[in-house]
Amino acid sequence: MRTQRQVVDYSLQKRALLRDLHNGKIGTLEVCDASPYLKNAARFHGEPTDERCPVCRRDNLTLVHYIYGDELKQSAGQARKLAELPVLAMTLREFQVFVVEVCQTCAWNHLIEQYLLGRDALSTDESPRGAAAAASSASGRHRETGPSSSHRREGRQ
Ligand SMILES: [Zn+2]
Repeated sequence: MRTQRQVVDYSLQKRALLRDLHNGKIGTLEVCDASPYLKNAARFHGEPTDERCPVCRRDNLTLVHYIYGDELKQSAGQARKLAELPVLAMTLREFQVFVVEVCQTCAWNHLIEQYLLGRDALSTDESPRGAAAAASSASGRHRETGPSSSHRREGRQ
């Protein structure tokens, strides 16, 4: 997407987690813990991919896009279809997107990427002022809602 910026890639974390899984340091149950909420989001708003699930290898991964930002009001934290994002990006000044991959068969899930979208990018190039703050507050809220894999590090179940 043209206005995508402040991209954070989580593929290293994902690879490390998969390595631990294959080494037996962590169990499948610890990483295949997609909530019913996340599985529903994958089913109704997910973007199908051709990529096989790295854990069960039985199903292809689905990407779920969560959106965060003050301008979204009550829509903040919702999953949206990928096709809806360019429309929002033209309407809103700035919002954060979190991309989570989900296997609907074994419930593997991992945050793979986050980035900012919005009209702001069309006028000014980089705006370091609010961007970092927005990113950190958005990821904070993201952790509370917990569609990502981060909740397992907090020790709940
Ligand atoms: Zn799977």
